[in-house]
Formats: sequence, C-alpha cells, structure tokens
Amino acid sequence: MKISKYSPIKILGGGISGLTAAIFLKNAGYDPIIYEKNTQCGSGRHGDIEGLETWNFNLNPIQFLKFLNIPLNFNYKSENQFKIHFDNYPSLDVYDENPFFYLVKRGRDSGDLDKELQSYALSIGCEIRFNFSPKIENMSIIATGSNSAKAYIQGYTFKTDLPNQTHLFLNESLTKSGYGYLIIWDGNATLSVAYKKKDNKGRQILNKLIQVSQNKLDINIPKDNQKYGSYGSFDIDTPKIDQFGKLYVGEAGGFQDYLFGFGMNYAIYSSYYAVKSLVDKIDFMKSINQNIFPHMKASLVNRYFYEKLSEKNKYQICKILSKSDNPLKILRKRSNYSIKKQLMFKLFNKKLKSI
Ligand SMILES: Cc1cc2nc3c(=O)[nH]c(=O)nc-3n(C[C@H](O)[C@H](O)[C@H](O)COP(=O)(O)OP(=O)(O)OC[C@H]3O[C@@H](n4cnc5c(N)ncnc54)[C@H](O)[C@@H]3O)c2cc1C
Repeated sequence: MKISKYSPIKILGGGISGLTAAIFLKNAGYDPIIYEKNTQCGSGRHGDIEGLETWNFNLNPIQFLKFLNIPLNFNYKSENQFKIHFDNYPSLDVYDENPFFYLVKRGRDSGDLDKELQSYALSIGCEIRFNFSPKIENMSIIATGSNSAKAYIQGYTFKTDLPNQTHLFLNESLTKSGYGYLIIWDGNATLSVAYKKKDNKGRQILNKLIQVSQNKLDINIPKDNQKYGSYGSFDIDTPKIDQFGKLYVGEAGGFQDYLFGFGMNYAIYSSYYAVKSLVDKIDFMKSINQNIFPHMKASLVNRYFYEKLSEKNKYQICKILSKSDNPLKILRKRSNYSIKKQLMFKLFNKKLKSI
C-alpha cells in the first residue's frame, strides 16, 4: 500500500493497536486519522484491570513503550507476587523480585490506558473521528479488535476496601481450559474467569467464580458491581494483510497469546511493525514472522498441553514456580519458541490448528 506524507493515513478502530499505530505514524511525520465507532476510546471497555505481562517478549512492556516514545501518563502498577488457588490442593504464593505484570485499567476514565493513549494521540495532533464506522475500503490499518470468539471472559468490577492483591484460580471445578483471577488495586477490584467454549457452563460459571473466590478469600461482591462479558480472538492464520495491502493489527489480525489470552503487548508490537512497513518499507509479514509468530506458536504449543493437564499437574507445575527464587525465568523459558517447541509445532500442527 502506497502512503504519502501529504495525504492522511486512515486507521479503523481506536483501541490500543489503533491508537499506538496513530502515535507512531504522527511521530514519523505522517497524518493519521482514526475512525472510532464509540464516542470515546475505551468506552467499549469495562473499566477492568488487565495485566501487561513481562515474560513473552524480550523487552518488558514499559521499556518498550519508553523505546517508542509513548509517555507513561496512564496509571500502572507493577505486580511481582500473586497467589494461586486450587480445589484440592493448598494455595501457593509466587514471588519474583521483578514484576510479572504491569497492571493497567482499561476504559475511558482519567488514568485508564485507553483514555490516556487517546489524550496523548490528540495532544500530538492525531485526528480521531468518533462515532464513525466507515467501510474498510479506504483504510490502511484495520485495528477493530476481536472479530471471532475463540475464548470467552466474564466477570465483575467493583469497589472494595481490601488491600492490593492478585489471585489466580486454577480450580478444576471452575474451568478446565481457562482460569479465574481476582485483582485488587487501589480500591478497584476485577474478578473474572476466562474459558473456552468446551467448558460451556453458560451463566453457571459466574456463580462458580464467586463460589471459588469466596471459598478461599474473605471477599464480598457489593450489589453495585458491574457485570461484564466479552470474547477474544487469537489466530495465526487470520489474514494479516489483504489483497489491497490493508494491514490488520491487534486482535483484528488474530494477534494474541493462545495460552492465557494476553493481547495488549501483541496489539502494540503488531502496530509497531505495521507502521514500520508503511513508513520504512520493512516487510510486515517478514517482521511478524521473525518477531511475533514465534511467541504465538510457543503459546499455541503450551495451550495444547495446558488443556491436557489435570488439576494435580497444574498444582505440581505451580509448586515449581512457587518454590523458585526466579519464577519469571521459568515462565520465560517455557514461553520461548525452543527447538523442542518448533518440533512439536510441526508434529502436532493439525491438532494445534484446531485449538
Ligand atoms: C475482559 C478482558 C480482559 C483481558 N485481559 C487482558 C490482560 O490481562 N492482559 C492482556 O495483555 N490482554 C488482555 N485482554 C486482551 C486485550 O484487552 C486485547 O487483546 C487488546 O485490547 C486488543 O487491542 P486491539 O487494539 O486489537 O482491540 P481493542 O482494544 O478492543 O480496540 C478495538 C477498537 O476498535 C473499535 N472498533 C471496533 N469495530 C469498529 C468499527 N467497525 N469501526 C470503528 N471502530 C471500531 C472499538 O470500539 C475499539 O475501540 C483482555 C481482554 C478482555 C476482553
């Protein structure tokens, strides 16, 4: 796709990937226009707390944002410990001296990631047309988020007086394919469960989530909670570039971690490589083949095995993390696309693609 500094570059969708793409373009001297279907960026999100994980990519996300000259004017908190719960095994504490996650809040309130990326994009002169959902024909970058439901997520956000804490629920009675989590950060709580269709428990899964969390923790979900539900797409085979040269970034391009559904880093990285291809003519597919697909493939192999694990197996693996002085090192090693994983990817290719 040919672009020039004299005509605007059109981006469909003003989420993390669309906003970061616009910022990179503006900083490179181009004039991006974002078309966002909502009245504000982040207003389609749920005000939930999400984690920018630190073990999949070489640079941790905060370093990467600094490298990209994106100011850290959103609220974030590093999280270097969490507790893991099971139905039939004792809970485990996992601690590392470095953060596993940078917690961020998603939404349109001041300090939320989406809101602050929007403010920064506007402050440097990016144009955002709200309430606008034009046809994709004239767009250069498609950043419209998830377009198919590969996994589901449901949960609650609410206010609480409890101190900051993070919990992971691997209870078999909750979900075999996914996990639950509770994050409390400065009075805001997010209690959620991520799962695949095969767990198919419909509404029951929320009752179960409340049950397992209250069984382990002294947590009260107030009546004025916000209930939410959503879905996510991750797919190596989703087209990343179409016949007209439009580039698909973030979840619109299927960029997301297969194992746990972490998509924010993927959104930023895929936008970065899309802009590199438009501005510096660095082949998009080549960049993602080298820099993004290895992470996705490793996460796909990991997911294949995760779905085969019993609660006991999960407990044993988590016990290793809990006992380790450097659990992040283990996570990094496990998410590396090693020779062994490359062989597995080839060997199980058909089965993996059906995940
Ligand atoms: C509940 C939940 C919890 C999650 N937790 C985590 C987590 O802890 N860590 C993590 O890394 N990832 C997490 N993810 C995944 C992560 O949020 C996404 O992968 C990431 O936001 C994808 O960014 P994106 O830019 O592709 O899409 P989005 O951020 O969803 O943005 C898409 C934007 O496009 C707009 N849009 C859509 N269609 C149109 C259209 N036709 N015209 C104009 N505008 C349009 C939307 O309104 C939206 O603003 C979670 C996802 C969910 C749903």
